[in-house]
Amino acid sequence: MVIDECRAAHRIHTKNGRVIGVETDRGRIDAPIVINAAGPWAANLAATCDANLPIFASRQSVAICRLKSPIEDERLPGYSERGSGFYLRPDTPSVYMVGSLAPDDSEPIDPDAFRPRMDGATSRRYCERAAQRFRRLSDASPGGSRVSFFDDTPDGNPIVGVDPRVDGLIVAAGLSGHGFKFAPVFGQEIAAIIDAGRMDGDLDQFKVSRFLD
Ligand SMILES: Cc1cc2nc3c(=O)[nH]c(=O)nc-3n(C[C@H](O)[C@H](O)[C@H](O)COP(=O)(O)OP(=O)(O)OC[C@H]3O[C@@H](n4cnc5c(N)ncnc54)[C@H](O)[C@@H]3O)c2cc1C
Repeated sequence: MVIDECRAAHRIHTKNGRVIGVETDRGRIDAPIVINAAGPWAANLAATCDANLPIFASRQSVAICRLKSPIEDERLPGYSERGSGFYLRPDTPSVYMVGSLAPDDSEPIDPDAFRPRMDGATSRRYCERAAQRFRRLSDASPGGSRVSFFDDTPDGNPIVGVDPRVDGLIVAAGLSGHGFKFAPVFGQEIAAIIDAGRMDGDLDQFKVSRFLD
């Protein structure tokens, strides 16, 4: 088996309703099975073989909050709170990464053309929201930001399994911000589909077919 990194798939080729390969930036690869795991770009790739997927990229920003007087060896734990609409995780003793859980902070974006930084006012707002819960963050100031995106689906759950519209096409995308947690089990299940042609029934809720008429 060869793992060929940094090779972009431009098109999924099909013939008589089944996958026959992919067109890449460095030529065609014949393949009886294609797994579309292209994250926020998965919908574009799926559209090339008329197997559209409802996956949309949404902007996700994290403010870097820097404490003036950190308490060595006493970091806060990772923390998430829907009510106040934020989560944080410790980085160095003086730095916390603060993200938002408020829907208003995650507008749709184009993953190929987006503003890579938060503006200062928004970073401050994120830090202040966390400081209302944790007093030690009250002297924190914004020290930069990171911007990335989720690949969201309409029901906020991943799309994983065979695509019934095209034989040989498997989807593992639309992870909707839960991808790290799910990745091991999805990897196992996709290997089971390829090996044994079936997936564990417990993952039925993630089937592509829930979005098809
Ligand atoms: C701020 C933030 C916080 C998060 N926190 C958590 C958390 O606490 N817990 C959790 O479980 N998850 C979390 N997530 C979500 C998690 O990061 C994602 O769900 C996960 O990374 C998705 O993995 P993926 O492999 O499906 O997609 P991606 O990581 O997006 O990978 C897709 C890959 O496909 C490649 N690709 C795209 N198009 C093509 C193409 N045409 N040809 C070839 N390659 C292509 C891309 O280059 C990319 O490498 C967070 C995400 C963000 C942004």
